[in-house]
Amino acid sequence: MNKLAKLDHQFVWHPFTQMRDWLKREPVVIVAGNGAVLRDIRGREYLDANSSIWTNLHGHNHPRINAAIQRQLKKIAHSSALGLANEPASILARELVTATNPEICDLRHTIYESYAKSPRKSQIANRKLEKVFFSDNGSTALEVALKLAYEFTRRTRSAGSLPASHRRIEPRFLSLAGAYHGDTVGAVSLGHIDLFHKSYSGLLFKTDRVMSPYCYRCPFNRAKPERADAREYRKCSWECVGLVEKKFTTQRRKGNPYAAFVFEPLIQGAAGMIPQPPGWLRQVTEIGRGHGALLIADEVMTGFGRTGFSHSTLNSQPSTVLFACQHEGVQPDFLCLAKGLTGGYLPMAATLTTQKVFDAFLGEYGDFKTFFHGHSYTANQLGAAAALASLDILQGKTSIYARQNLEKNLHDELQALWSLPNVGDIRQVGLIAGIELVRDWRSREPFDLRERAGIRVCEAMARRGVLTRPVGNVIVLMPPYCTTKAQLQKIIRAVFDSIREVLGKL
Ligand SMILES: *Cc1c(COP(=O)(O)O)cnc(C)c1O
Repeated sequence: MNKLAKLDHQFVWHPFTQMRDWLKREPVVIVAGNGAVLRDIRGREYLDANSSIWTNLHGHNHPRINAAIQRQLKKIAHSSALGLANEPASILARELVTATNPEICDLRHTIYESYAKSPRKSQIANRKLEKVFFSDNGSTALEVALKLAYEFTRRTRSAGSLPASHRRIEPRFLSLAGAYHGDTVGAVSLGHIDLFHKSYSGLLFKTDRVMSPYCYRCPFNRAKPERADAREYRKCSWECVGLVEKKFTTQRRKGNPYAAFVFEPLIQGAAGMIPQPPGWLRQVTEIGRGHGALLIADEVMTGFGRTGFSHSTLNSQPSTVLFACQHEGVQPDFLCLAKGLTGGYLPMAATLTTQKVFDAFLGEYGDFKTFFHGHSYTANQLGAAAALASLDILQGKTSIYARQNLEKNLHDELQALWSLPNVGDIRQVGLIAGIELVRDWRSREPFDLRERAGIRVCEAMARRGVLTRPVGNVIVLMPPYCTTKAQLQKIIRAVFDSIREVLGKL
């Protein structure tokens, strides 16, 4: 075994990994990357079909991000945000505010005009995201939103309407079935994946869950399986939206309306790549707003152009819409960003919120209204420099063109997979695709997780030079934006051949 692989086996404990299985095999040791390609220590090349667990945007070793980090490195790598401001983080905060408020930023964004005509415009303008709290990863971005929403609610909601026994406001959170919002204790409390969360239940606080629109396995969907994305042929009456309404109404009757509604917009990632039918997000967020809830949008996976152009029905031309919420004209009170923020280079996150939330934490020093939260590497300069370069690349013509092509190529190439009886559903949202494996598409019968169908297919793909990780029985494809048509064809061929090899005989 290679020397570095041995060191890994001896000393490293890997995340979300059964280490007994890990220790049975020599691991792939990555030593270099370029564009969509990763190279291991033996000189073998792989396509990075999940953008290094959903973080990379423009490809590895991007000359412009490399240069930005090197330029910053010549000045300083890090100084604390406790008591000090710094150059790239100040500029990045402004750029994030600009990118996440398309209706109020300059007219480069064609979406402005469609918003201006829409009656929702004033509602959106009132909810401008204008304050940025930096942290290190997706979990902390959610943790920050959670604590802010909790404190904001306690400070602004009058307890007068509550019975005496409830005078102390206990802000309650609602999130979606199958939700994943990270691995710190607060973020885990917002999540609803029993497999990950059960063992920690004693550590967690209680949150409520509501049905998410998983059309392919929805009990309200009366349609027989077809060879198409289940959202397209579903037969239902939006019962899922009715359930959200009911949940909010019931909680309000208890005298303690939900403090916040937490969701991934357009598609839930770790839940199993569960996409929302168009219109769902707008309806449920309007319901939540109607019941006085704050909206916490987790765009850790969906942010920075991942959700593509196809949902932008608001404007005829493709625009530089970078966030999933914008596709449905939803403006949250909290927007959580991480994974792609630095283009997949450095661990950095941001939680954006409104002036109104910010103001609730203002006071005399002795009022102790300060937001008591922070991390040592908050507003790290190298991360901020990488993020600025990444945002700049994203807004350029080359990247927009590449993303449009990739979205179209992904759609076209995925069609070949429908001929496989073990493919039950293929769900594409922009530059993200989930392929759900089943015993037989006609019955939708799932594999037992112990059969490791998704894992085995991904192992077979790795042997063909394509790297990704499944979510349960769902194969995830989320390649870097620079992935060429030929590279994408290789990825899809690997999926096709691997499914046939691993499951074909069943
Ligand atoms: C990955 C992810 C997180 C957690 O981010 P980390 O950086 O891994 O802590 C939170 N929410 C969503 C939607 C994610 O995909």
